[in-house]
Amino acid sequence: MNPKTFVLIVEDDAPIANFLETALHTQEYRTMTTRTGEMGVSLALSWNPDVVLLDLGLPDLDGIEVIRRIRKVFSVPILILSARHQDHDKIEALDAGADDYLSKPFSVPELLARIRAVLRRVEKDPSGLAVEGAFDYKDLRIDFDARLVRVRESTVHLTPIEYDILCLLAQHHGRVLTHQFILERIRGQYQNASDSQALRVFVSNLRRKVERNPADPEYVLTEVGVGYRLNAE
Ligand code: CA
Repeated sequence: MNPKTFVLIVEDDAPIANFLETALHTQEYRTMTTRTGEMGVSLALSWNPDVVLLDLGLPDLDGIEVIRRIRKVFSVPILILSARHQDHDKIEALDAGADDYLSKPFSVPELLARIRAVLRRVEKDPSGLAVEGAFDYKDLRIDFDARLVRVRESTVHLTPIEYDILCLLAQHHGRVLTHQFILERIRGQYQNASDSQALRVFVSNLRRKVERNPADPEYVLTEVGVGYRLNAE
């Protein structure tokens, strides 16, 4: 546990802000809290926190605008706190540069796990993209140079589009990628990769090849209504 980890909380709902502070203090994280977006941006820029927890519904600025303003300046991990039904907001926030989101109500273990995951990512790979050499997670191995994927010691034969989707997820390991984000990156190479329905088909074929049980995937996880994530737990 790093006692110096500094979390900026931007949340106008006092009980939620208190809940976050209490949970983070038990882990010896330092916190600073503000209830407005303007102050959130200004504190983020002046105090250089390790993580920003950001509520999307703020009294002054839209949370998306807060992300944009922070992102113009630096790449601090931003975790969105959003209501469970606001899929559209989550997607917009992720596309604006948020790293991840927590759906309210969330538990303390969920909160801490998400924070640890973004911190691990930043520590391991400050650029946010791991593309060199090979990627290993559990029984999955991707050899980027050879364009070879192995699962449980067997080589898996993926189509180019399945391979590219898997690589994209691996490059952003643990992060949820929106449908739009994935489609934009594969669309350049594949004329037919045009909509979320096509993406669902590619992902379901990919799962059939890499997952032990495609109905209960351990690698390629669905974030309902938002996108996909390569498991990092
Ligand atoms: Ca709010």
